Amino acid sequence: MSVRSGPRSDLNASPKTSHEPRLTSAGAGAGGVALAARLAKAGLRVTVVEKNEFTGGRCSLIHHEGHRFDQGPSLFLLPQIFREAFADLDTTMPDAGVDLLRCETNYSVWFHDGETFKLSSDLASMRREIERWEGPEGYERWVSWLAEGHRHYEISVKEVLRKNFMNVWNMARPSFLIKILDMHPFESIWARAGRYFYTERLRRVFTFATMYMGMSPFDAPATYSLLQYTEFAEGIWYPKGGFHQVVAALQRIGESLGVQYRLKTPVSRVIASPDGKRATGVLLEGGEELSADVVVLNADLVYSYRNLLPRTPKIEARAKSLQTKEASCSSISFYWSMNRKVDELSTHNIFLAEQYRESFDSIFADHSLPVQYSSLSLQQSHHFTRQHASLFDVSHMVQHIFKGKDAAAFLERVTPSSWKDQAPMQGKLTALLWPQTGGIVDDSVTTRIGEDEFYVVTNGACFEKDCKYLDEQLGQFGGDVQWTRLDGSGLVALQGPQSAEVLAEALASPINLDEFYFGSSVWAELKLADGGWAGSGGSGFTGPAR
Ligand SMILES: Cc1cc2nc3c(=O)[nH]c(=O)nc-3n(C[C@H](O)[C@H](O)[C@H](O)COP(=O)(O)OP(=O)(O)OC[C@H]3O[C@@H](n4cnc5c(N)ncnc54)[C@H](O)[C@@H]3O)c2cc1C
Repeated sequence: MSVRSGPRSDLNASPKTSHEPRLTSAGAGAGGVALAARLAKAGLRVTVVEKNEFTGGRCSLIHHEGHRFDQGPSLFLLPQIFREAFADLDTTMPDAGVDLLRCETNYSVWFHDGETFKLSSDLASMRREIERWEGPEGYERWVSWLAEGHRHYEISVKEVLRKNFMNVWNMARPSFLIKILDMHPFESIWARAGRYFYTERLRRVFTFATMYMGMSPFDAPATYSLLQYTEFAEGIWYPKGGFHQVVAALQRIGESLGVQYRLKTPVSRVIASPDGKRATGVLLEGGEELSADVVVLNADLVYSYRNLLPRTPKIEARAKSLQTKEASCSSISFYWSMNRKVDELSTHNIFLAEQYRESFDSIFADHSLPVQYSSLSLQQSHHFTRQHASLFDVSHMVQHIFKGKDAAAFLERVTPSSWKDQAPMQGKLTALLWPQTGGIVDDSVTTRIGEDEFYVVTNGACFEKDCKYLDEQLGQFGGDVQWTRLDGSGLVALQGPQSAEVLAEALASPINLDEFYFGSSVWAELKLADGGWAGSGGSGFTGPAR
C-alpha cells in the first residue's frame, strides 16, 4: 500500500473535519515521522503506530551508562531534501530546533600503512591532498570527476528520487531514457574512477562510499559518485544532540498538526476490503482494530509483504519473488565510548584494508568475514592476533550433536577415547577412526554437554567423507543415538593472549576464565568452548549463523 504525497502546493493545511480522511501509518522511523507531518498538514487525520517504545527506528538513540550513541546514521546526506521537508511544513531546521554542526574534515581515510587522505569541502586542502598522490595534473582530473558526480546527482534527484516507479513502464519515460546513459549505470564506479585517478590509493578514496549502499565498488554503478559529490558540495553535518533530533523535530511538528503517536503498539497485519483491493485499517497485536481510509507501511518492504499485507494471491507471489532477491549487505556496529579525545582521529574515519578488492570480495562475493583487518598488512594482522586478540569466522567447521542413551557408546566405537565417564561440559581433542585399520578419518573436538548429549566439531574440508562415515557407522551400530548436524549455526573463534580479557567484557554473567582450561565448556549467552580449532589460548562460540 502506498500513498503518494502530492506536489508541494497540495500540502496547504486544511481545516480538520470529521470527514477528513484517516491515515494510519505503521512505523515511526524517519520516513514515517516525516510523512505523518506532511500528510497531517495536507489535511489527513493521522495516527502513527510504532512497535518500539521510541520513535526513529534505525535513526534512534541508544543510551547506556550515561553515554549516548547514534544507533544508525552518522552522515547527514542530501541536506537539501531535509530543508525542503521542513519548508513544506512552513519552518526551517534551525527554527524547529535542529542545530546542525559542520564537520571540518568530511572523512579521514586511513590506508593500511598509516598514511591518510583528508576529504573535505575546502578546495585548497583538496588540491594539496590530491596533488600529493596524483601530481599537479591530478587536481584537474578530480574536478572533472566532481563535475560528473554533479551530473549524476542532478539527474538522479530529478529523474529517480523524486519520481515513483510503480511498474516497469515508468522506467520508459522519455526524459529518463534520454539521460540514463549520462548516469553511467552500466559501468562500475571502480572502473569509472580508473579513468580519472591514476593511483590505486585515490581510486580507493573515491569509491569506498558505495559501502553505504551495501555494495562493493567493483559492482556498484558509477552513478553513486553522486554521494561524494554531495558530500563535497554540501559538506558533512552533525545534528547537535544526535541524529534523532531531526526525527524529534518532525515528530513535534506533526503533533502540533494533530498527529497521534501510539508507541509500543505493533501492527500484526493490514485489514483489507472483501475484494482484497483496498486497505481499510490495521489489526494491532493486542487485537484492537484501527480503521483508516489510507494505510502506510513504513516497515521494511520484504517484511511487510511477508507479514503485514493481506494474503491475496498477487501479494503472495510478490512476497515470494522478493524473498528470492539478493539482499544488500548489512553491517556490524560497535558503540564505543572514549574517556579521552583521540587527536589523530577526525569525526569520521574510514580504515581501508591493504587488500582492498579482496576485502570487498570476501564480504560481497564469498559472504565471509575478511581475513585481514583494515589498516593492518597480513603480517601485522598475524602479529596483532599473537599479541592481542582477533575474532575468526570458522563456520566452515561442521558441528554435530549426538544424543541418546547410547551416544557415549557410539562415540567410543568411532573414536579411541573414553566417553562414558567424561565429566559434564568437558571435552577433548579426539579422532574418528576407520574400524578395520584404525587409520584417522578426521580429527575432532568432542564435548559432553548433557547426560546423554555430545557436541562434536569436525573439519569443513572433510564434510562429505565424515558424513558418509558417520552415517554408515550409525547404521551398523543400531543403538539409541540421534545425530543432528547444526548446519544453520555459525561458529566464531576468539584467539590471542588477550582473548580472555575481551571475552570477560562480552559475557553477560561473569565466568571465572582463569579456571577455564583447554577442553572446558560453559553455557553462557553463547556456547563457549576452549577447543583446538581456535589454537592455543583461544575460545570458540557457536550460535545461529544469521
Ligand atoms: C548502522 C547504520 C548506519 C546508517 N548510516 C546512515 C548515514 O550515515 N546517513 C544516512 O542518510 N542514512 C544512514 N543509514 C540509513 C538510515 O538510518 C535509514 O535509511 C533510515 O533511518 C530508515 O528510515 P525508515 O523510516 O525508512 O525505516 P526505519 O528506521 O526502519 O523505520 C521503520 C519503523 O517501523 C517500525 N515497525 C516495523 N514493523 C512494525 C510493525 N509491525 N508495527 C509497528 N511498527 C513497526 C520499526 O520499529 C521502525 O521504527 C544508516 C543505517 C544504519 C542501520
